[in-house]
Amino acid sequence: MILKSHRRVVLVRRPPGEPAESDFRVEDVPVPEPVGREVLVRAIYLSLDPYMRGRMRDVKSYAPPVGLGEVMTGGIVGEVVKSGHPKFQPGDIVEERLGWQEYAISDGAELRKVDPSLAPISTANGVLGMTGLTAYYGLYEIGQPKAGETVVVSAASGAVGQVVGQLAKLMGCRAVGIAGGKRKCDLVTRDLGFDACIDYKAEADIDAALKAACPKGVDVYFDNVGGAISDAVFKNLNFFARVALCGSISQYNAAASELGPRLLGPFVGRRVRMQGFIVWDYAARATAAFNQMGEWVRAGKLKYREDIVEGIDKAPRAFIGMLRGENFGKAQVRLGRDPYLK
Ligand code: NAP
Repeated sequence: MILKSHRRVVLVRRPPGEPAESDFRVEDVPVPEPVGREVLVRAIYLSLDPYMRGRMRDVKSYAPPVGLGEVMTGGIVGEVVKSGHPKFQPGDIVEERLGWQEYAISDGAELRKVDPSLAPISTANGVLGMTGLTAYYGLYEIGQPKAGETVVVSAASGAVGQVVGQLAKLMGCRAVGIAGGKRKCDLVTRDLGFDACIDYKAEADIDAALKAACPKGVDVYFDNVGGAISDAVFKNLNFFARVALCGSISQYNAAASELGPRLLGPFVGRRVRMQGFIVWDYAARATAAFNQMGEWVRAGKLKYREDIVEGIDKAPRAFIGMLRGENFGKAQVRLGRDPYLK
């Protein structure tokens, strides 16, 4: 049965620093009616991602900001309820960036079908979704690791980081994570098979900890955080090292960016290559990555941890918590019943 009204979250204020729950409003609005070839989707899982903080700013970026009063942007995994599109039938599980809302209309152009027999459908927001894809191509294409090399990844227990370290291990590399807290470090070493993990919140000297964890230096740095952690990794880069600039979450809530990086002198002599990337650079090759990682997930070679809260009204709080590091795995919100959940 389709409800007459549903809830959605809109942006009502642009925070200068850390967001507050009052920057968002949860509204009740009528469920939209699809017309023509449109598809009505009931959202089941909403993905919470650091990039959303950037969309709250009124600045030019690779994607436009969310307008005040508009629905927050975000990927969802959901179920087709009504469809005039020949490719999609009621009951299909799908994924698209349809926003923080319980029901949404898609024109079908970017709607991805998800096979619920392969893995829990929430993974289409995580390891078999945008964040897994980021790890896969960011590591393999930009990091270009070779067997025997040392790969360091920051925000190592998070959605992207946990996949990066495991992919590095599958390549025959030494994988070293950096994460906040013992619980997170234990996850990546004990459960996910990283060789070492540095707890940057407990470690007074990250540079010394890196030297101990990476006795042969660092060949690939997958940078999710920027700031002081990256400064410390930069000091330990080897000749011809590669730095994949994925994100800089340590700066996302800053009213003004910190100065830096200023430790680039050795990059010259050591011929280090540093390159930023956006996951959608690899959109055309997404299926190949999902097929490969799906195989590894089913074979138990690629594990994942998700952190799922219940109910759309909890989304703002969970989002703020994720930016603070309170999430333990891929941050998501369950918006409605998952028909495949046992
Ligand atoms: P996540 O790691 O699941 O969650 C964010 C984590 O960042 C937190 O759990 C926290 O972990 C860490 N963090 C927060 N503040 C920090 C600080 N001041 N210093 C160090 N770490 C901090 O998020 P994710 O989705 O995997 O994203 C990770 C990074 O990848 C982000 O920078 C994101 O913007 C980027 N990203 C980029 C692309 C792309 O296309 N380039 C795509 C997806 C994601 P700790 O508790 O360990 O600090």
